[in-house]
Amino acid sequence: MSKVLVLNASYEPLNITSWRRAVVLVIKGKAEQVEHNGRVIYADFPFPTVIRLRHYVRVPYKEIPLTRRNLLHRDNHTCQYCGTGSEGLTLDHVVPRSRGGGDSWENIVTACVRCNVKKGSRTPKEASMPLRNPPRKPHSSLYFEIARHVRGGVHQEWRKYVIGLN
Ligand SMILES: [Zn+2]
Repeated sequence: MSKVLVLNASYEPLNITSWRRAVVLVIKGKAEQVEHNGRVIYADFPFPTVIRLRHYVRVPYKEIPLTRRNLLHRDNHTCQYCGTGSEGLTLDHVVPRSRGGGDSWENIVTACVRCNVKKGSRTPKEASMPLRNPPRKPHSSLYFEIARHVRGGVHQEWRKYVIGLN
């Protein structure tokens, strides 16, 4: 059954929960409905897809490991220079290692072999190959989870609650 995005009182995404748990939170008055899918559970009680907690909850920050898998996921498995999503994607250092570029979320992007070779040991500016999205560190593992749902075609209405989702 469908999942529900839980927002903090500040409207920041907090977690993803089952619709049952979401309904309980709303009935108990701990959360309010923000988005629903048009269906009703019973009269005057729409089926929630996004809810918001009435009280702010503090969440500890969880670091996401900088791995090939996570980088590909952040970049939606597409070359950040030409947009192709073909097989054989590589990782490219935006500022090449030979020029002092480090291993960081901000300096590594997904690139197809062709673009990677073409760019060589130049910066995007020198190579006249602008990046499609500025590489950023993902906010949290929740961000990854939300991105997966949105890209899967369901829960498009979640998109507007996530900053920087491409
Ligand atoms: Zn490319």
